[in-house]
Amino acid sequence: MNSESLLAALNDAQRAAVSAPPGNSLVLAGAGSGKTRVLVHRIAYLLEAGASAYDIMAVTFTNKAAREMRGRIETLLGLPLRALWMGTFHGIAHRLLRIHWQAARLPQTFQILDSDDQMRLVRRVIRALGVDEQRFTPRQATSFINSAKDEGRRARHIDPIGPIDRTFRDIYVGYEAACQQAGAVDFAELLLRSHELWLEHADVLAYYRDRFRYLLVDEFQDTNGVQYAWLKLLAGVTGQLMAVGDDDQSIYGWRGAKIENILKFEQDFAPVRVFRLEQNYRSTGNILQAANAVIGHNAGRLGKQLWTEAGVGDPLLVYAAYNELDEARFIADRAAAWIEHGGSASEVAVLYRSNAQSRVLEEAFLRRNIAYRIYGGMRFFERAEIRDALAYLRLALQPGSDAAFERIVNTPPRGIGDKTLQRLRELARSAGVTMWEALQAALVGGVFSGRAATALAGFVQQISLLGQTVVEMTLQDAMQTVLEFSRLEAHHGREVGERGVAKVENLRELLTAARQFTPELRFPVAPDGTDQSPQTPRAVLEDFLAHAALEAGEGQSASDGACVQLMTLHSAKGLEFPLVFLAGMDEGVFPHRMSDTEPNRLEEERRLCYVGITRAMRQLYLCHAEVRRLNGIEQRSIPSRFVREIPKELLSEVRLRGAVVRPAAPRREERSYGDARVPPRMSRDEAGAPLRIGQRVRHASFGEGIVLGCEGQGDRAHVHINFETAGEKRLILGMARLEAVE
Ligand code: ATP
Ligand code: MG
Repeated sequence: MNSESLLAALNDAQRAAVSAPPGNSLVLAGAGSGKTRVLVHRIAYLLEAGASAYDIMAVTFTNKAAREMRGRIETLLGLPLRALWMGTFHGIAHRLLRIHWQAARLPQTFQILDSDDQMRLVRRVIRALGVDEQRFTPRQATSFINSAKDEGRRARHIDPIGPIDRTFRDIYVGYEAACQQAGAVDFAELLLRSHELWLEHADVLAYYRDRFRYLLVDEFQDTNGVQYAWLKLLAGVTGQLMAVGDDDQSIYGWRGAKIENILKFEQDFAPVRVFRLEQNYRSTGNILQAANAVIGHNAGRLGKQLWTEAGVGDPLLVYAAYNELDEARFIADRAAAWIEHGGSASEVAVLYRSNAQSRVLEEAFLRRNIAYRIYGGMRFFERAEIRDALAYLRLALQPGSDAAFERIVNTPPRGIGDKTLQRLRELARSAGVTMWEALQAALVGGVFSGRAATALAGFVQQISLLGQTVVEMTLQDAMQTVLEFSRLEAHHGREVGERGVAKVENLRELLTAARQFTPELRFPVAPDGTDQSPQTPRAVLEDFLAHAALEAGEGQSASDGACVQLMTLHSAKGLEFPLVFLAGMDEGVFPHRMSDTEPNRLEEERRLCYVGITRAMRQLYLCHAEVRRLNGIEQRSIPSRFVREIPKELLSEVRLRGAVVRPAAPRREERSYGDARVPPRMSRDEAGAPLRIGQRVRHASFGEGIVLGCEGQGDRAHVHINFETAGEKRLILGMARLEAVE
């Protein structure tokens, strides 16, 4: 494709941004206006205009987005672009550290600590310091450390303002030392360390400044302090940075993102050409108006107008569920109707505020037999059995990894008990060595005896042998060997029921993941010009471990099939779907109750709602429940204020009559929202009073319960009731002799 046809697929404002002359630019625009499209076309345009793929670095918010973007550019240009650096901040920082490990003061085989590993290590530090774990929880300490790192602050930069702060600082100091000793790097450290690498090594920075003449960053509104500083340093005075973002979609403040970064960009990177895109290509008029109305309640916005040429479309549908089960079933039913009417499952997304909401939804989809995939929940590389298998590989390659050691020393169980482990930890701590080294010394010194000694010796032998075997293997063979050596597959195969089967399947899937893995290219690197390619087998194995850690940390599953997508609102950023359900639109759930006391957090919740609404292309459902059991607590709630912020004329309330859903004619059952008269009549109980979903009823034998739904008409209808003690039952209405309880 040539430049002309590249530009032809854009509107005027987009075209101006894509073909902008050299210099810094900011594309500031609302959701669905083609920001990401501009970024993709800009890269293609630069390449078309003679730039080399080596000159370009593009930063995306997720690895998935990076993969998709690369694919789109390759399609546009019709050539593979492996030389292009495209990835998340973390992915790119990791790549830099792998190349410059010495300058970054890291061991060549440094490992990434995922958030689980990090928390475990922080806990060990807290205990080693003798700090009260109840007062200073590992979670709080981890968050203290991460927010400091996100701001570019090391422990030594912290000037404690009181005893509490001092304790956290001390934990940070201990944690830094423990990481350095273990050669381990957490997510925030990847960025901080690569920033320091440039600050401390002018030659390395000069090389990359010279090389990456074009920098492009998507979702700029969610950059944190270090990321911003990192970009600023890299861009220098000659680099050209194109930042793309939307201040209304800044939703990671709680993780250190700074909305100010996009606001001060114009000054810090002056002169900056600003491009505003105003036409939305994604959603119907109604969806767009609703989004504009909600976000209009926030103060301190840059302010943007979005319009669309698409028609107004259907109204947004509001469903008042009785409880979360009813909500989930409703969503699964409507998704099923969409699919029955020729839609694809992958066009459907269910978005929710917190992960805990997914379980009930999952069950409803399972019951309905609809394929679904969870993003942001338990991801493949986060699953325990996968992490176990990878820990074997890691320990075999890097016996110094305490995180891996702790994970598998007794998995599958080999008779190494807690006491033995505690003893080992103490030995390691007092000698200032790794668990592995402590174990070797303990075996030589005869510290352990009997069963423990035999088990430990067996473990050492197993891991050493594994290490010698896998280093020269291909990744897939190495993974196969790991599965055999570790006996994980056999171990889970013996578990009864679905879970064991699923775990074995996952382990097998790991072999596929290994086969499909493409390692990163290493390039000759100035100033010494070392050419690090071709890769050794060992480097490929290590790359795979890093890839797994980065993927797990991100919360996106790797592949897409025809599945309904379930995910948190946060992970839906940048995506779009024809049919979207926002589940849990209840006060207290969304906006989250934690945002009650702080206006800033409430505004961030509202931006999150704006992100949610603008994911929808054609149809959007807003669901809330009168009663919701979440995290073990049952609560009554009112519809979210965000629903109430949408003008009534854009909404229509879904009323179910008779059955749960009648997919054949879903529109007839819907009435205009706001005309809330009597609850919909579903059928009649003995006394002739209306029975409705959510109605409390009494049955002679089963006691009291709640009506969840009704299928069919008249006396032969089946009522679905959740009885308090007898559980869920389906009864024939004419024979059930139900009494309404009010
Ligand atoms: P978000 O803020 O949600 O990240 P965005 O601004 O990045 O959204 P894109 O995802 O780039 O928006 O575009 C939204 C949709 O509109 C995509 O399906 C895209 O292909 C389409 N689109 C954007 N610009 C045009 C155009 N000029 N012509 C046709 N379709 C377009
Ligand atoms: Mg985008």
